[in-house]
Amino acid sequence: MIKENLAQVSRTIADGVRLIAVSKTKPVEDLQEAYDAGMRLFGENKALEMRDKHEVLPKDIEWHFIGHLQTNKIKYIAGYVSLIHSIDSLNLLQAVNKEAAKHGRVIDCLLQFHIASEETKFGLDMNEAEALLSSAEYAELKNVRIVGVMGMATNTDDRDLIRREFRTLKGYHTQLAEKYFAGCAEFKEISMGMSGDYEIAMQEGSTLVRVGSAIFGARNYNIPVND
Ligand SMILES: *Cc1c(COP(=O)(O)O)cnc(C)c1O
Repeated sequence: MIKENLAQVSRTIADGVRLIAVSKTKPVEDLQEAYDAGMRLFGENKALEMRDKHEVLPKDIEWHFIGHLQTNKIKYIAGYVSLIHSIDSLNLLQAVNKEAAKHGRVIDCLLQFHIASEETKFGLDMNEAEALLSSAEYAELKNVRIVGVMGMATNTDDRDLIRREFRTLKGYHTQLAEKYFAGCAEFKEISMGMSGDYEIAMQEGSTLVRVGSAIFGARNYNIPVND
C-alpha cells in the first residue's frame, strides 16, 4: 500500500512544495518500499532511530530531523542530517553548531515556533526568536545556517483555526525575512502541514510538508521510546 499511498499523496503536492515522508516508528522495510517508489526525503523524530535507519538504507536519502532534539543526541545525526526542523533555543543551536564543526559541516536548521493553542507543543514565540537572532552568540555560529521556520497546528477539526495558525507562521517568516535575513535567499523554507492538514498548509504558503500516516499508515504509540 505504501507505493499507492505515496503516489496518491504526491499527486496532491503543489508546485514548489517538497514532500517529506515521515517514517518514525516504521520499520526499514517500509522506508525501503517508499525509496523504491522514488521517495528520497525522510523525516524522523528520534536521533537513535534515525541513526539506525541511516546506517542500513541507501546513502542518497535526505534525512530531516523533525522532533524534539536533546543536545546529547545530536552526535548521532550531525554527520549526515540534511535539515533540523526543531531548533527552539539558542542553547540547542549552539550544540548543533559544535557537532557540525566536528564533521566540517554547515547544518541547515529551521526555527520551530509554537503556533498551536495547545500548551504541550515545543517551540519559540516571536520575542524568543528575535532575541536568539539578535544575540552576539548567534552571530558567532559558523556551522549552522537558519533557512526558515517550522510549526505544528493544533490537533483539531476546526479548519479555520488551523488555517489561522499556519497564516501566523507564514507571517513570522515574512517578518524575520525582512528584519534578519534581508538578501539571504536561503531563508525560504516554511515547514508546515501533516497528513490531516497539509492541503491547508500549502494554501497558506508551506514549502515543506511532513506527511506520515497518509503514506505509511497509522502508528502504534503505546511504547514510549527512550531517546
Ligand atoms: C509525526 C509527525 C508528523 C507526521 O504526522 P502525520 O499526522 O502522521 O502525517 C509531522 N510532523 C511532526 C513534527 C511529527 O512529529
